[in-house]
Amino acid sequence: MIYFDHNATTPLDDRVLDAMQPFLKTFYGNPSSLYRLGRISSSAIDAAREQLAALVGVQPGQIVFTSGGTEANNLALATLDPRAGLAVSTIEHPSVIEPALHLKSLDHQLTLLDVDANGQVTQHAIDEAIRLKPGLVSMMLANNETGAVQNVAHYASQLTEHGIKVHTDAVQALGKIPVDFNRLGVHLMSLSSHKIYGPKGCGALVFEKSVQLKPVMLGGGQEQGFRAGTENAAAIVGFGKAAELAKTELAERHAHLLTLRQLLEHGLSTIPGLTIFAERSERLPNTVQMGIESIDGEMLLMQLDQKNIAVSSGSACASGQREPSPVLAAMGVEPSDAKSAIRISLGKANTEAEILEFIKQLKSLTIKG
Ligand code: PLP
Repeated sequence: MIYFDHNATTPLDDRVLDAMQPFLKTFYGNPSSLYRLGRISSSAIDAAREQLAALVGVQPGQIVFTSGGTEANNLALATLDPRAGLAVSTIEHPSVIEPALHLKSLDHQLTLLDVDANGQVTQHAIDEAIRLKPGLVSMMLANNETGAVQNVAHYASQLTEHGIKVHTDAVQALGKIPVDFNRLGVHLMSLSSHKIYGPKGCGALVFEKSVQLKPVMLGGGQEQGFRAGTENAAAIVGFGKAAELAKTELAERHAHLLTLRQLLEHGLSTIPGLTIFAERSERLPNTVQMGIESIDGEMLLMQLDQKNIAVSSGSACASGQREPSPVLAAMGVEPSDAKSAIRISLGKANTEAEILEFIKQLKSLTIKG
């Protein structure tokens, strides 16, 4: 099977599984328990916090472990002061868009930051945010569908100068491009374990110490009181290990993915009527979202599935619904063109042979005669 859907999720790295295994069975103590078995779990969580902190360049105390990127995004938006305004880009993941709409229903002013045809938030949108002075601006570092990388550092410095706090969803960027919290100059940053070869159901919110976090989960003092509930020690240990590996292997993974993406794009350039979305944007080294004129993306996905090739027709969370991608709509792509979209997202174990096989199959399915 050829797996080209790493932006949906990644397979667990064997080294991550090895690190997790003792905490699934042998070391089952509750990290809050004071006896040795409990302390083993809590020390393992501390070590994982250090591994993740090292990957993104923060102090371990700036990390709150959560159940994933979705919870981290919800927790970030929950920091908003009562009735303060909020601005989010139009291409955010639903786990930012939906809490933002919820806040709007509670009377917060919600501003949507427009993107251009290449999926980039515009300076005009940032100027408008500065004028409205919301309590928080949320703009993602890399888009899950197009792979477009935003110039978060550039805009965060402008927003911060005007006293506006910035959150970035770095779930898709982590492990693919360098992600340094302080260089980005943001106040809050969401991360997820299962996009970096760690286990599912684990993520983190990184916070700048001046930000007043407001817990969403109440009922225990875990995670400095910011996230109640017995920690999933095995998953956190796995996330920590995955973060350590992402740090040591980042340059190698990046180079490998870029080589594969170039080979893929070279092959795609020989297919008539093919468009790569956000092509002129700086993009993640592993992501290509494309469409072929008058070919339905979901139909193509099913045909590729029959050839044992897994791709996505948009974001995983949006699949199953037949509306064209809101991300492409925000970029001004016509609904008929957006319906042709499929997303290829490569991973560290993919090979050149798989790319060539994919191109061969894609041609046989889409070029008639
Ligand atoms: N943010 C982005 C950009 C994502 O792509 C995803 C997952 O698809 C999430 C957040 C949600 O992360 P999780 O699956 O860990 O809840």
